[in-house]
Amino acid sequence: MALIECHECKREISDQAKVCPGCGAKVRGEPKSYAWLWTILILLAGFVWYSTVTTKEQRQDQMAYELCLQDMKKFPGNPIVAGTCTMLRDKYKAKYHREP
Ligand SMILES: [Zn+2]
Repeated sequence: MALIECHECKREISDQAKVCPGCGAKVRGEPKSYAWLWTILILLAGFVWYSTVTTKEQRQDQMAYELCLQDMKKFPGNPIVAGTCTMLRDKYKAKYHREP
């Protein structure tokens, strides 16, 4: 049970009440509260989807950098490999504001 606002007198009334005890106006709060619930659910689903997508992308970027570090060990002193690693690291830092 929750309290809702009467659309006529703005008094707080029970959402179970059919009419407002203060002014007698018909309570139409119920469909409105369902709409709110749906809005919250949709927003939540969107947020969950968004955060999974970003972490997946972040993991891929991190993996690319780690693979590059492995290549750097295989080819020490190779300027192309070293340059690629620095680029990947800078890109990661710019994107996620932390070290990979
Ligand atoms: Zn009222």
